[in-house]
Amino acid sequence: MKTLTKVLLASVAVAFLAVKWTAPTFKAESLRGAKVLVTGASTGIGEQMAYHYAAFGAQIVITARREKVLQQVVEKCLSLGAQKAVYMAADMSSESDPDRVVEFAVEQLGGLDYLVLNHIGPSPFSMWEGDVQHLLWLMKVNFLSYAQMAWKGLPFLEQNKGKLVVVSSLLGKITSPFVAPYTSTKFALNGFFGTLRHELALKKSNVSISICTLGLIDTDAAMEKVKGVTNMPAYPASEAALKIIMTGATGERELFYPWYTYIVTLTKDFFPSISDYVIQSSYNNIP
Ligand code: NAP
Repeated sequence: MKTLTKVLLASVAVAFLAVKWTAPTFKAESLRGAKVLVTGASTGIGEQMAYHYAAFGAQIVITARREKVLQQVVEKCLSLGAQKAVYMAADMSSESDPDRVVEFAVEQLGGLDYLVLNHIGPSPFSMWEGDVQHLLWLMKVNFLSYAQMAWKGLPFLEQNKGKLVVVSSLLGKITSPFVAPYTSTKFALNGFFGTLRHELALKKSNVSISICTLGLIDTDAAMEKVKGVTNMPAYPASEAALKIIMTGATGERELFYPWYTYIVTLTKDFFPSISDYVIQSSYNNIP
């Protein structure tokens, strides 16, 4: 190996270790009594986050549309050790529900330490066939409601040196077939919250923004979509949920889970044609 290559590799390794060593460490005690609002918590990763927060002794408000399911999640949260667990059924495609949920959480908890934006509306896994109405609706649910809730929640987060956690996707960093509306909402989230992070820094705000880039996770909804279409490995929802919580608690700017999402994000622009080839080859069938 040439000397220059060795020096380069050693520098990258040193930089990587330096970043790891200086990263803030997660302290589970910091979540005891924390005032947390989690959206999309009736099922999937949001439900798992609710259980982790509960086990850490947090006070939680959860939301989604299905009241009966939320009720069951709340009961389980209380049995796991949540200091408080309540729900509000809400539809994030409505103009008013995003604000109402934040107001409800602040009232119930007496403030807000964590705003965890996680919900997504159902969207077909298929070729784009021009359904602009669906695209508009999904933008409302997956993107506009996030912006609305963040703005409503910010003054309360600022009172508590709080944390804003945004659950995004590798599909907010790279494009892939069959998910045009979903991908659009995730790119929008990354653009919006990346900008907001700059602006909060310029305003010397004490609120951190963590953007979480996830790969394929084994939630029922995701597994149903990719069944028979791809053999990509799916990672456990409970572990993804815990990583999101740890990232939010330490105020780190980004989470990449699982590991390959970081490599893909780093390398996609160096080899765009290879990257497109690999993505297109990862599907066995056209859904
Ligand atoms: P999921 O299982 O489909 O859960 C979605 C949640 O959002 C549910 O609680 C659902 O509950 C709620 N929801 C749906 N429509 C809503 C609406 N109109 N208003 C309010 N709530 C609504 O999703 P997931 O797989 O856990 O994904 C969670 C997050 O991880 C998402 O941000 C997703 O983009 C991200 N992610 C997931 C994967 C994956 O492979 N699973 C990969 C990358 C990123 P109700 O039906 O009761 O409303």
